[in-house]
Amino acid sequence: MTRPSPTGLYCCGCQKDVPARLTDGREVYPHRPDLFGLTFWKCDTCGNYVGCHHKTKDRTRPLGNIPTKELKNARQHIHRILDPIWQKGKVPRGKLYAKIAEELGIAEYHTAEIKTVEDARKVYAIVKRLAA
Ligand SMILES: [Zn+2]
Repeated sequence: MTRPSPTGLYCCGCQKDVPARLTDGREVYPHRPDLFGLTFWKCDTCGNYVGCHHKTKDRTRPLGNIPTKELKNARQHIHRILDPIWQKGKVPRGKLYAKIAEELGIAEYHTAEIKTVEDARKVYAIVKRLAA
């Protein structure tokens, strides 16, 4: 548990890169023993955290930046509309993500990298339109 965050992780609560601390489910989800073995990066300044790519070789690689609770909810909301679009085969996943990136004017889109609720709202509007 001593590995430092490689280049600092962006924390949406602090709105800057922070020296996140690696911890596990015992601290983040004390009531979920089934998650105790999983790793998380936590910002000790604001208390927010992000999970890791648990199922890969690099088990401590963060899933994205560190979201606030509000942002986490917003992202889940986006996923609920976004995922069925490609899952039903309406548009291939890669093409869909490229389309969102294009509309946002960024090189690559990842829901886990959304930094502000404002941006989440923008994405939500795009995704909702694409789902229609
Ligand atoms: Zn923070």
